[in-house]
Amino acid sequence: MNYKNFIAGSWEETSDSCANVNPSDISDVLGHAAQSGTAEMDRAIAAAKSAAPDWAAATPQQRFDVLDFIGSEILARREELGQFLSREEGKTLPEGIGEAARAGQIFKFFAGECLRQNGDKLASVRPGVDVEVTRSPIGVVGLITPWNFPIAIPAWKIAPALAYGNAVVLKPAELTPACAWLLADIISRSGLPEGVFNLVFGRGSVIGQHLVDHPDVAAISFTGSVSTGRGIAVACAKGMKKVQLEMGGKNPMVVLDDADLDLAVEACLNGAFYSTGQRCTASSRLIVTEGIHDRFVTALGSAMQALKVGHALEAGMQMGPAVDGRQLDQNLSYVDIAAKEGGKVLGGHRLSLQQEGFYMAPALVTETRNDMCINREEVFGPVASVMRARDYEEALVLANSTQFGLSAGICTGSLKYASHFKANAEAGMVMVNLPTAGVDYHVPFGGTKGSSYGAREQGRYAAEFYTRVKTAYTLP
Ligand code: ADP
Repeated sequence: MNYKNFIAGSWEETSDSCANVNPSDISDVLGHAAQSGTAEMDRAIAAAKSAAPDWAAATPQQRFDVLDFIGSEILARREELGQFLSREEGKTLPEGIGEAARAGQIFKFFAGECLRQNGDKLASVRPGVDVEVTRSPIGVVGLITPWNFPIAIPAWKIAPALAYGNAVVLKPAELTPACAWLLADIISRSGLPEGVFNLVFGRGSVIGQHLVDHPDVAAISFTGSVSTGRGIAVACAKGMKKVQLEMGGKNPMVVLDDADLDLAVEACLNGAFYSTGQRCTASSRLIVTEGIHDRFVTALGSAMQALKVGHALEAGMQMGPAVDGRQLDQNLSYVDIAAKEGGKVLGGHRLSLQQEGFYMAPALVTETRNDMCINREEVFGPVASVMRARDYEEALVLANSTQFGLSAGICTGSLKYASHFKANAEAGMVMVNLPTAGVDYHVPFGGTKGSSYGAREQGRYAAEFYTRVKTAYTLP
């Protein structure tokens, strides 16, 4: 399979291509993706620029029909798309199918939003004058996406971009071209006018940077690493572009003495290790009060060791491989560092299975302190650390002592502590008796501090980023 660029309504090959390898079995090559240069990116941006005015003027019904078509086809093909996703990215098949379904639901939600675009009509402070506040599209938006949710993240950027009347250039992650291609293939048959959606494959540092720097691009929505995100913010400020960044997390999960032990173990098992820990909302710092600490660590340790790790498409697997060799090495080196810093490590070794892939046993590091590297930096793998806290007050201080602020969780039976935590956790999303990962699609997603920058994604709040506001005064 060749994953071609989609520019101005046509599929285009490039002279260079890059192999797409299954992380569960490196002998399985899914296909080859185009490797573009700045010339292809320039043509995609030009196509989007010339298609933007007509799409901005399209009726709500036209936009609804396109988004509804895309959402319906994704939902109808969720099993097949989920299978591709798991084969390409390495999350288990139920997780892959769940993510594909999520992408379909997102398009359906924003199809509805096409019909609900409204503004405000106000009385003026001046006699006889009417004031109207409306939202307009911003023009060409550049979408830069990571590999860990290779269909859901493109969906939650493309769907609102199109619903609010913008033209799109998508630059997906190098490691997951198949999911982006499958989505583009569906979009290409949706009735969307040529040039409104464009897909360009290639290196982030080359064509991603070119997209960010291009003067015809009005806004950039990015999900990825902190260092790349910071560079993009600076470049966008220079170009006076709107920018939205979703970056890392080091999400705390507080477990109090009065928590339901089974529920807490289940929430942490899911939050820390599902999707191989490759979620920016993963529960990576478990902060546990003294009275429950030892029971919790024993129970979570045995539940973690019982997890079935293997080929993402094999039935019954609970954790797949790391996405590639570089990520696996990074995970293992963080486990090493944690041990050298004095943490007690359970699991965390490389696994050799029947087929060659990027496998490791999930790791639980206990007896850690918040100033250790393992509690400061995002691993992005199946590695969780445990800290002891005297009481709720100390647990809250530890939870907030981080440069990140995406998601924060607490397991407790106490309404008093749950309410206090919801109000005082320095995070964009707070979970009570639920894993830090796992969110709805119709409400805002995003964080505080070093995790996010700019307007929120998802739900109706997406309009903040994908539109600009106009105020009109009329003397009738
Ligand atoms: P990761 O380490 O998870 O791959 P990155 O931040 O490097 O995270 O990548 C996220 C996305 O950003 C990918 O699509 C990647 O190609 C893209 N990217 C990487 N570097 C740049 C850059 N300098 N400018 C724009 N996009 C980039």
